[in-house]
Amino acid sequence: MSYINENFLNLQQSYLFANIAKKVAKYSEEHPDKKIIKLGIGDVTRPIVPACVEAMHKAVDEIGTQEGFKGYGPEQGYEFLRKAIVEKDYKKRGVDLELDEIFVSDGAKCDCGNIVDIFAQDNKVAITDPVYPVYLDTNVMSGRSGEYNQNTGTYENIVYLPVTAENNFMPELPKEKVDMIYLCFPNNPTGTVLPKEELKKWIDYAKQNNSIILYDAAYEAFITEDDIPHSIYEIEGAKEVAIEFKSFSKTAGFTGVRCAYVVIPKEVKGYTKDGKAIDLNQLWNRRTCTKFNGTSYIVQRAAEATFTEEGQRQIEENINYYRENAKIIKEGLEEAGFTVYGGVNSPYIWLKVPEGMTSWEFFDKLLEEVNIVGTPGSGFGPHGEGYFRLTAFGTRENTQEAIERIKNWKNI
Ligand code: PLP
Repeated sequence: MSYINENFLNLQQSYLFANIAKKVAKYSEEHPDKKIIKLGIGDVTRPIVPACVEAMHKAVDEIGTQEGFKGYGPEQGYEFLRKAIVEKDYKKRGVDLELDEIFVSDGAKCDCGNIVDIFAQDNKVAITDPVYPVYLDTNVMSGRSGEYNQNTGTYENIVYLPVTAENNFMPELPKEKVDMIYLCFPNNPTGTVLPKEELKKWIDYAKQNNSIILYDAAYEAFITEDDIPHSIYEIEGAKEVAIEFKSFSKTAGFTGVRCAYVVIPKEVKGYTKDGKAIDLNQLWNRRTCTKFNGTSYIVQRAAEATFTEEGQRQIEENINYYRENAKIIKEGLEEAGFTVYGGVNSPYIWLKVPEGMTSWEFFDKLLEEVNIVGTPGSGFGPHGEGYFRLTAFGTRENTQEAIERIKNWKNI
């Protein structure tokens, strides 16, 4: 008999994007003349910048020669890329890291999901709510969540930290002791950020409780305000308690190319049940060497090129394009009378749906009356109810048109 991991049966089906696709397909079948604008996507749309394309071409030519051929690379990533990350990403922010504290991978989604491997099953997990669903689901799969409560839409062993307009999108420290804390800033889906002094509170909490912060900075490149940290390690003490996830996906448009990295400073410790401190860096290294054979050489060369002067300039242009879209959406919605959050340090705009409506009711109304698709906030967690996410990843023309439609929408 092969028994299954029954934790999988404890997962709630995520109907979010499937439901959206179904509703959009139905509407468009019934109204073939309508032009639907999709502002729900979390995927980038601008092409890969020339500096990265050139680097990939060069790498392809190189591996086609006897001298340049590459077989398996280092599981943790090539030194050239780890060096570029240490020097060009962290050193410039005043953060000193060593090469072997960086682990290159093929995506932050896998990293955020796989990290649970190195933690005990009975750790108490805290997640902000609403948030990127991967943190919750991977903890359900690995048996840390307890039972699901249909009435509350929450799992019994997970500590949910609401991030809503009521607390200015700044989660409060948990009243109870938690062991693993997921923080994602700039946040998906709310588009909001955490200033340094707020983040410091979490670091102090983690130190006092020997907890670990799992910090997802996938959208860091979108930060525009000076006092917002790009990395958790900009805050004193973070190197003792935080693991950071970074990705080239939203920064350099690598959602299809695939490259990311995890930072685990050697000071970060986990504990055995008898109280012995263990380097998490060592555990992750062991896990990586056992389960992963490294990111493609070609892709790592492309990632390296993002740190060149030319690469940085080209990437900034793309990000500015999305930033401008975000501004158009935010200002347009405000003009139309909506209460809007995010969009300043993030490609995500989080709006309050009109009083008395659910996120899904607003989705239907927006689709049917102005032919625009967004994402209902309730799909990101119970505290997302009453909100709605629009993204800046569309084309300028579509973004402008969508906002004009909303401004002219008489029946909001
Ligand atoms: N982290 C957050 C918060 C995200 O929103 C996403 C993708 O949407 C990811 C990670 C995934 O990144 P990657 O493309 O590197 O897997």
